[in-house]
Amino acid sequence: MLDNIAMKKSQYSKITTCALSGIEGVLIEIELCLLPGLPSFEVGGNCDSAVRESRDRVRAAINSSYYNFPKGRVLAAYAPATFPKSGSAFDLPLALAVLQASGQVHRPEGANPVAAFGELSLDGRVHRVSGILNRLLALEASGVREVIGPPCDFDCQSFLSNIRYYVVSNLSEAIEIYSGIVPAAGSIAKGKVSVSASESEGANSAKHGIRSSVLNRLSGQEAGIRAITIAAAGWHPLLLMGAPGCGKTSLASALAEILPPMTEEEVLQVLLIEQVSDIPVYRGDLTERPFRRPHHSITASALLGGGVPPKLGECTLAHCGVLFLDEVTEVRPQALDALREPMELKKIHLARSSWRVTYPSDFLLMAACNPCRCGERLEAGARCRCSEYSVERHLDRISGPLYDRFDLVARLNRVKAPTLQASLDQNDETRSKSIQAQVRSAWKKQMERCTYFGEKFFFNSRIPIDLLIPFMQMNDSCLKFISELAEEMRFSFRAFHSLLRVARTIADLRTAEAVEEVDLALALEYRLALPSIFSERSNIG
Ligand SMILES: [Zn+2]
Repeated sequence: MLDNIAMKKSQYSKITTCALSGIEGVLIEIELCLLPGLPSFEVGGNCDSAVRESRDRVRAAINSSYYNFPKGRVLAAYAPATFPKSGSAFDLPLALAVLQASGQVHRPEGANPVAAFGELSLDGRVHRVSGILNRLLALEASGVREVIGPPCDFDCQSFLSNIRYYVVSNLSEAIEIYSGIVPAAGSIAKGKVSVSASESEGANSAKHGIRSSVLNRLSGQEAGIRAITIAAAGWHPLLLMGAPGCGKTSLASALAEILPPMTEEEVLQVLLIEQVSDIPVYRGDLTERPFRRPHHSITASALLGGGVPPKLGECTLAHCGVLFLDEVTEVRPQALDALREPMELKKIHLARSSWRVTYPSDFLLMAACNPCRCGERLEAGARCRCSEYSVERHLDRISGPLYDRFDLVARLNRVKAPTLQASLDQNDETRSKSIQAQVRSAWKKQMERCTYFGEKFFFNSRIPIDLLIPFMQMNDSCLKFISELAEEMRFSFRAFHSLLRVARTIADLRTAEAVEEVDLALALEYRLALPSIFSERSNIG
């Protein structure tokens, strides 16, 4: 009888692994048992076809590593069964569970429980899976102390404090570590990682050398520089309108450049996002803010995310950074309208089949477009021959509700030729440095103000309506000025509030405590500096 129980025990095994739900890791328990019967290998517990395919890979990898796949019926169950499981990361734990249940591998008595994840190839190699850091952090939070998995392309151990991550390149190595044969210094393979880190550091400083000149090359485009400075200082969505070749794209890269570097918390968030994205992302420096520039033919699902399981989109990749939509009038209206949700909530909820996923997406939106089809409408020479009707149709692509969300609408003109020459001659690094410093001090002022009012930090673009008046610190004459203005201009509520928020940022940029008439007048320029048709539109509530 006792023998019977012991035998049964040896035919059962259990191992912890980790799945992904958006950027979060979800703990999964794999139970496996060997039963008498005809040879079969069954996998249950809400698994999709990719997980079921792992049966063949596991069988082949075990055989290639000179172990035996058990005869009879093999039954694996993934828990919790309510959570949908997808992908190939369960191959390695499944193989270890098979070997443990069939008595070919043993975890030593008293050893810490070990978790594992990784994809197996047919010859037993362990392949990379997405979201390594996300999985490790979830496992660490749940109290797991040892994990076996594939190599990570950056030093993920530096983000972990209570976990030992054993990097393996094939199933045989994983089996050794699982059975307790651990090399003395057998933690994460740091050597390889630190080399690539130092390489990227070098590449980054070189890149910085090139990038810091973006702003300097824009000399003459003062209106544009002013607009991106305000946008960066208060995290205000910005729309640039101007003829082709007036420097809209350069201004977008300059905007990403003048934003202060990310905080530690933001660095981790962005890393977790990049870890689960299938799109290769190249950022030399981890503190560098993301800059995403999707093509105008982008679909709504590529912009916001979609599919089964729901993948993230450009909005999430731009989290903590800049999302630049060039030729915004050419973007599908459906995609543009969908932007409103992330702009409001700073996150995206995706529900597809049994999946419910939330991705963060707090980005600074910058859009650019031509003022009309030919693009010449705002130029002094006025060679534009577009009819009023065609201009209207062209600009109609930016829907009213989205248009209202642009706090700043700046109109640009082409820079005159002599200034262009001057911009080539000029190599003044101090300009971009001083703008960066201005933006940073404006951010600091906003933080101080939020602390003063006992609020959690938010940018000026997100001052709640009830706090607008106390935050402005205006005197009586200024209050009178804005109430007259509101009456006269017949602004929509949203437009009027955004005008006040922009004025707050302009005052912060000149390090003033109180908002004055001059700030409001300047902010007003970014509402009125439009072709006639636009000012009419913005007035309609
Ligand atoms: Zn035109």
